Amino acid sequence: MQVYADNAATTRMSQVAVDAMMPYFTNVYGNPSSLHSAGQEAKEALEDARARVAKCLGCEPREIYFTSGGSEADNQAIISAARFGARKGKKHIISTAFEHHAVLHTLNKLEKEGFEVTLLDVSQGHNITAQQVREAIRPDTCLVTTMYANNEIGSVLPIAEIGAVCKAAGVPFHTDAVQAVGHIHIDVKAQNIDMLSLSAHKFHGPKGVGALYCRRGLPLTNVIEGGAQERGKRAGTENLPGIMGMVAALEDAVAHLDENMARVTALRDKLIAGLSQVPHSALNGDPVNRLPGNVSFCFEGIEGESLLLLLDMKGVQASSGSACTSGSLDPSHVLLAIGRVHDVAHGSLRLSLSEYNTEEEVDHILEVVPQVVSYLRNISPVWRDLQTGKRTYIL
Ligand SMILES: *Cc1c(COP(=O)(O)O)cnc(C)c1O
Repeated sequence: MQVYADNAATTRMSQVAVDAMMPYFTNVYGNPSSLHSAGQEAKEALEDARARVAKCLGCEPREIYFTSGGSEADNQAIISAARFGARKGKKHIISTAFEHHAVLHTLNKLEKEGFEVTLLDVSQGHNITAQQVREAIRPDTCLVTTMYANNEIGSVLPIAEIGAVCKAAGVPFHTDAVQAVGHIHIDVKAQNIDMLSLSAHKFHGPKGVGALYCRRGLPLTNVIEGGAQERGKRAGTENLPGIMGMVAALEDAVAHLDENMARVTALRDKLIAGLSQVPHSALNGDPVNRLPGNVSFCFEGIEGESLLLLLDMKGVQASSGSACTSGSLDPSHVLLAIGRVHDVAHGSLRLSLSEYNTEEEVDHILEVVPQVVSYLRNISPVWRDLQTGKRTYIL
C-alpha cells in the first residue's frame, strides 16, 4: 500500500482542475494583453477567473492579483506594507516566530534595511492570541503579518480577533493563508483581513500559481517589474492555464468544504488518538484550533530523517517538518519556537492528510509508525541511555 500523507508540502491535482486547464494550452492560448480576438478571449477568461477567486474569499475582483504562488504573494504583501510604512516614518513590523520562510526571510531582509521586527512567542498553547498582537502594536507599527494556519504543526490562529485588533489600531494586517485556503472557512471582509496570500498547489490545483488579495485603497509595490499586467502591480504574461486550474480547484474545495473538513478531521483524530499511545511522544500544535489534515508528533529518542526513510520503505510518505527545511540538519524553527528542545525536535513526524486519504490508509499508518519507532529506538544509543537512566526523559 502506498499512502501519500504529505499534503502540506503539496497535493495531487484534482481532475476538475486538470480538465479546466487543458483548453488554455491549446485553444485559448492568446496573450491576455494582445488586442486581437485571441488575446481578448484569454483576457475574458482571466477576468472571469479573478471574479470567481474573489467570490470564494469574499472580496471584489479588483482586489485579487495573480502571482506565481504563495512565496511571491508573501514577499509582495510584506514589502508593499514596509515601503508604505517607511514613507510615513513607520518601520516596525509584528509577526510570529513560526512563520513560513517566505515571510521570515523577507522580514530578515527588511531588518537589514533598518526595520524592526517583533516575532510573537508561540510557546503558549503552540499558538498566539490577539492580546499578544494588541500589546505589541506601537505607534510606528506599519504591518502585522501572521500566518492563518501553521504548515508544520497545524495550529490555526485567531485570525478574526487579530483582524479586529489591527483594524482598531489602524495597522494593515496580512495573513499567509496558504495552508488554510480551501481547507477551512475564510471571509476576508468579515475577518478584517487587509492582505492574504494563497497558493493553488496546496488545495489540489497546479504548482507555480497563486494569488494575493489586497484590500482596495492599500498601496501595492511591484516586486516584478516589466509590464502593465495585473493593473501594473505584477509584470509578466499571466499563467492562464495555471490560473484556470487554480480557480477550478478553489471552487471545488469551497463547494465541498464542510464535508471534506468533517471527513479529514475524523481521519486526523483517529491518527492522533492512535499515535498518542506511543510512549514518550507528544503532539505538536494547538490541539483544538487545528487544521483538519494536520498530525504532528515528536517521538523521543529517534531521528526524524531515519523515521521518514523507513516509513517510505513501508509505503508511507510523510515529512519531518516542512519540505523547505528538509535536507538541512538544523531542527525546524517551528518546533524550536513552540519550545521543543533540539533532541526532541529532531524526532518529529508530520502527517498531512487530504480528502483523498482513506480510513484504510490511516490504519496502515497506525500499524507501521509504532513499529518503525520501536525499531529505531531499539538501535538508538540515546534511547538506551534514557532507559538505563543515564539520561532523563523529556517527553
Ligand atoms: C507552501 C507554503 C508557502 C509557499 O507557497 P508556494 O506556492 O510553494 O511558493 C508559503 N506559506 C505557507 C504557510 C506554505 O505552506
